[in-house]
Amino acid sequence: MSRFWSPIVSKLVPYTPGEQPKDRSFIKLNTNEHPYGPSPIALGAIRAATEDSLRLYPDPSAGALRATIGASFGLGVDHVFAGNGSDEILAHAFHGFFSGKDKLLFPDITYSFYKTYCELYGISHRSVPLDDDFRIDPASLGGPCGGIVLANPNAPTGIALDLAAVRSVLEQNPDVVVLVDEAYVDFGAESAARLVPEFDNLLVVQTFSKSRGLAGLRVGFALGQPHLIEGLQRIKDSFNSYPLDRLALAGAEASWQDTAWFEETRRLVITERHRMAEGLRSLGFNVLPSAANFLFVSHETRAARDLLTGLRDEGILVRHFNKDRIDNWLRISIGTEEEGEALLKVMAGLVAG
Ligand SMILES: *Cc1c(COP(=O)(O)O)cnc(C)c1O
Repeated sequence: MSRFWSPIVSKLVPYTPGEQPKDRSFIKLNTNEHPYGPSPIALGAIRAATEDSLRLYPDPSAGALRATIGASFGLGVDHVFAGNGSDEILAHAFHGFFSGKDKLLFPDITYSFYKTYCELYGISHRSVPLDDDFRIDPASLGGPCGGIVLANPNAPTGIALDLAAVRSVLEQNPDVVVLVDEAYVDFGAESAARLVPEFDNLLVVQTFSKSRGLAGLRVGFALGQPHLIEGLQRIKDSFNSYPLDRLALAGAEASWQDTAWFEETRRLVITERHRMAEGLRSLGFNVLPSAANFLFVSHETRAARDLLTGLRDEGILVRHFNKDRIDNWLRISIGTEEEGEALLKVMAGLVAG
C-alpha cells in the first residue's frame, strides 16, 4: 500500500504467474513451457539479428511477420495483429472490445488472467459454470452480454470444444466480440481461424510461447476481420508502438517457417501426453481428456496439496490453483519422456506412501 497509489492500483489483484525458481534446478512441469524449445533455425535468425541494426527501431507494424502468418491461414496482412505475447493482445482486446455496459462472459474455470484484465479495465463480467465434467456447454454462452472469452482448449482443464460448438457460440452472439484464446490449439484442437472470413465478431488469439517453444521471446498474434485488427492497432499505437523488438520479429518469422521442427516437436509432446495420461490413470488419478500440452489430474485418495509438496521435495514443480472446484487438482505440463518418467516414479511413491 502506498498513499501515492490510485484507487485502481490499490484494488488490483495481479495475476500470479507460475514459479520460475532461481535457487535450485527443478524438473519444471508448472508453466506449460515446451520441453524441446525453439527451432534451431529461429535461434540462428535471432543470433543473426543481433547486430548493428539494433540501434534502429523495429518495424512498428510487424508487417513481414503478420503477412507470413496470415498467408498460412489464407488471410491477408490486414487480418493479423502481432503483440508482445498473447497476454498483451488479450489486454488490448479486453480494453478495446469489452467495455460496454453488458457483462462479459467466460467460464468459471479458465485462464485467470481474464478476470485480472476485467479489474484493470473496469469491465463487468459474469462467470459461467462449467458442467460437472468441466465441460463448456455452448448453449450456456448466450443471451445479452458484452462479449465472450473462451480458451480453446480451455486452461487449466485442457478440454477442447469442437469447431461446431465454437460456431454455435458465434451464431448465438452476433452483436458482441467472441474471443477464442488458442494458446494450446496446436496440441490437439481445431482452430477457429477458418471461421474468420465468415464472422465479423470473431477474434482468434494464438501464441509462440507454447507450441513453438518461444515463451521467452514474447510473441503472440490475433486473427480477425480488418475492423477488429484496426481496433487493436489503435490501442497498440496509443500504448507502445514497438511491442515486438527486432530479435522477436526475426525469431518469430523463422520459427513460423520451420514447419518441420514445429510438427515433429508437437508430435513428441502429444505422444508423451498419451503416455503420461495412461501412467497417471494406472496410479489412481482421474485425468481429464487433454488437447493441450498439460494434464489436469486429481487423485482418488491423495490430496492435491500433499502431492504438490511431495513432488516439490523431490525436485519436481507442477501447478496448483487455490480456487473453488479445482483446489484438489494439479496441472502437470508435458515434458520430455525422461521428465515424465521421473514424475511417475515420484507419484507412485507418494500415492503408495
Ligand atoms: C500461456 C497462455 C497465454 C499467454 O501466452 P503468452 O503468449 O506467453 O503471453 C494466454 N492464454 C492462455 C490460456 C495461456 O495458457
